Amino acid sequence: MAHMAPPPPSGASPPTASHPSADLQPWQWPEERWRSLVGQVRAGRRLKPRAWKGGARCAVALSFDSDHETNELRDGGRSIGRMAWGEYGTRQGVPRILDLLAKHDIRATFFVPAVSALLHPEEQSRVVGEGHEIGIHGWIHELNSVLPYEAERDLMLRSADALERTTGTRPVGLRTPSWDFSPQTLSIEREMGLLYDSSLMADVDCYELVENGEPTGIVELPVEWMRDDAVYFGMHRFQGLRPQMPVEAVFQIFRRELEGAWAEGGVFQLTMHPHHIAYRSRLWMVEELIGLANATHAEVAAWARENG
Ligand SMILES: [Zn+2]
Repeated sequence: MAHMAPPPPSGASPPTASHPSADLQPWQWPEERWRSLVGQVRAGRRLKPRAWKGGARCAVALSFDSDHETNELRDGGRSIGRMAWGEYGTRQGVPRILDLLAKHDIRATFFVPAVSALLHPEEQSRVVGEGHEIGIHGWIHELNSVLPYEAERDLMLRSADALERTTGTRPVGLRTPSWDFSPQTLSIEREMGLLYDSSLMADVDCYELVENGEPTGIVELPVEWMRDDAVYFGMHRFQGLRPQMPVEAVFQIFRRELEGAWAEGGVFQLTMHPHHIAYRSRLWMVEELIGLANATHAEVAAWARENG
């Protein structure tokens, strides 16, 4: 599907080769340059509700990024072995996660690249059929920051269209793949009228995103690398990446984050991946974490916007 792309948003875009200060070293930059770079996307109004829905002490927002095979495809990879690892995410991971969520009668958010949704439409049907939210997670898990504006916008719109066709519901939230944010990402989210973003980490509580000094009305539901299972369990056979942290140690980090949110009446947000967390030796930690209140990302963002 083709979309007519409007001209790239103006404002304080990062200097291009033609910018007067493009050849300067960072320590030579004029003040205007570093201020405009920092000001592209900032945290505005804090949206911490005085109380949570139903009198809950804190909000527990669990998310699962159903990257599946796009983990290999996104970089142009063709490894059948690594695609099989992604296939575990859809064949074993998501069903195990859904069974666990159903057992405790709680809802979560699944961020799904469009290619994952097109490869596994029946999985998405089950996810929404069981009351969970599906959010945008790019087309093929591409990096927004390396895309030209027209391509980023086109992929974002096509991703939302693909998810809507697959699930029957228009997504209201975006998690950029790899939390990678371009100078244009926020303006595209505004054009799409999204309720929230969940890709940035300037706070522990929800906040309003500000673009070049202008409040956008879009809620940020902040993430953190520390609250991401991929940081602890990701590995690559042919690279140095193989941390394989002890599961108990990871659980202690997540539990302390949750206890802190409980003490402060805040949000405990957690990012997980079906092909990292949904194993016999690991999924128990999710079960231990969900003994408390729980909501989808959209519910938390909407509540924070209305009550923050
Ligand atoms: Zn992802």
